[in-house]
Amino acid sequence: MSNFVDANVINVFNTTIDKLREDIGRNVTIIGKPIERSCPNCGYDPINKASNNKYEPESPYPSDVEPTGPINFPAQGMRKCPICSGKGRIVLQATEDSVLCLISPLTKEEAEKTQLGKNFIINYELSARAQYKELFMNSNKVVVDGHVCDIISVSPVGIGTLTQLQIYAGGGV
Ligand SMILES: [Zn+2]
Repeated sequence: MSNFVDANVINVFNTTIDKLREDIGRNVTIIGKPIERSCPNCGYDPINKASNNKYEPESPYPSDVEPTGPINFPAQGMRKCPICSGKGRIVLQATEDSVLCLISPLTKEEAEKTQLGKNFIINYELSARAQYKELFMNSNKVVVDGHVCDIISVSPVGIGTLTQLQIYAGGGV
């Protein structure tokens, strides 16, 4: 660390950026990737690539699966598993996280100089705290001011404890 960037400067820097975000930043919504998994309520037939139509619940039964189970469907006279509709696999609801960002809309010309290129009608540069890196990395989509955008790049910018996240996101196509 240089003589000028001491602990006090780092503190002022981070506090200032946080205050900026609080004052002029807005929340964006990060949409997690939908997760496909095997149905927790029935068995899987790998040859037919579908449910084996047998009641074989996972134990413990996962709490994040909709509709809520387990349901002993053969005992209730049902032929198909009602959790997966007989598919044997289910898609878990994508998670949504709200994150405070500095939001900079980019002009067409500005966007072309970034990874966004000419691909989008609406272009944003976002700045967020470095702690949200995983959240952004594990997602394809972010909702900015009501616009659903593709996350094109997530880069840490800065050194050490001064690092901020720079995100390019585009939408409108
Ligand atoms: Zn099932």
